Amino acid sequence: MIQTVFDILTIRKDFPILNRKVNGEPLVYLDNAATSQTPKRVIDTIVDYYSRYNANIHRGVHTLSQEATDAYEEARNKIQKHFNASESHEIIFTSGTTHAINLVASGFTSLLNKGDEIVVSALEHHSNIVPWQMLCERTGAVLRVIPMDLEGKLVMKEYHNLLNQNTKLVFCNHVSNALGTVNPIEEIITAAHKVGAAVLIDGAQAAPHIKADVQLLDVDFYVVSGHKMCGPTGVGILYGKEAWLKKLPPYQGGGEMIEEVTFEKTTYADLPHKFEAGTPNICGGIAFGAALDYMNGIGFNAIAQYEHELLEYATAQLLTIEGLKIYGTSTDKTAVVSFNIEGMHPYDIGSILDKLGVAVRTGHHCAQPIMDFYKIPGTVRASFSFYNTKEEIDILVAGVKRAKAMLE
Ligand SMILES: *Cc1c(COP(=O)(O)O)cnc(C)c1O
Repeated sequence: MIQTVFDILTIRKDFPILNRKVNGEPLVYLDNAATSQTPKRVIDTIVDYYSRYNANIHRGVHTLSQEATDAYEEARNKIQKHFNASESHEIIFTSGTTHAINLVASGFTSLLNKGDEIVVSALEHHSNIVPWQMLCERTGAVLRVIPMDLEGKLVMKEYHNLLNQNTKLVFCNHVSNALGTVNPIEEIITAAHKVGAAVLIDGAQAAPHIKADVQLLDVDFYVVSGHKMCGPTGVGILYGKEAWLKKLPPYQGGGEMIEEVTFEKTTYADLPHKFEAGTPNICGGIAFGAALDYMNGIGFNAIAQYEHELLEYATAQLLTIEGLKIYGTSTDKTAVVSFNIEGMHPYDIGSILDKLGVAVRTGHHCAQPIMDFYKIPGTVRASFSFYNTKEEIDILVAGVKRAKAMLE
């Protein structure tokens, strides 16, 4: 039985969208790995910003600009505290994980040479593959891949074999969005540092469930998206160690990122502004801070424990369906169940579930190499959040049974 570690009914009241109906049925939102829903506190923060103190930041002498600047910088401080970065200027606001990864990949162009090696994992999201391939094309560096096994875990022995004096960068996600596997990033970081390689961890899928401590991890770069952790879309962060952020050249040129501009030479602003050209998503950054406040109010330990119970319950219930196969069976997983039913296309199952009000993801989940590994076109992915319930899982399972009966 699900043990309620917090008051789920009260939590659900915080999310207005959970009240709506889809195709005449109550919404059962199980696509949390794609984006999370937004609590009222975050929605209110957005409304409050545009209702009371919308202004451009860091430049105005007027009151509104000062209030907006203070709120934006306070959000940066909250994020710094949340991830335990030692300096607030090590937190760079970006539009999300993809932007943050591209910023780092672009910056490494001038730091890599032909023959240098970049290691990525087989479990990556496309946003953590393509920028490195582009970097390899620019520099002549070579991409190496840590293979995965049938359980959806990285083959760590092979990882250690891949590392050598030429390895300059290692990229891996903390949690796989397609399978939910939690990767052994401590081991990955320690081993990479032994050969002098820098490590970027894509925390987009981990951050809603696991509170990462960047100093404890000793990670060089850690990136997340606000929208996967109760914040709005269009905002995320790059955490980078100060020494690395000083070494990397700016990503985009423009306003805000300069100290002095003449046509002969421009000097760049200090961190974090060096990487924050142009007017940022001010409201988004402030709302991201509110989202962290909200989640920390519930507590990440309670969230992880409750979601784990949902995962175990969903896994057991789904496996009672004949012909259903789950991809990603690591014992260390977040609340993601990726599955197929023999002989049925994931898209058809997803469409029938939608008619029943159940939102799941179908397809390759931006991780085509994983699907190729299993030789499947895609999966149905149900991903749970702390505002989901056991009753919703029952509706999912009943829906999958119904889909199976219709498609047989
Ligand atoms: C969602 C996700 C991304 C991409 O995040 P965006 O917000 O679309 O930039 C990258 N990696 C993982 C593991 C993800 O889950």
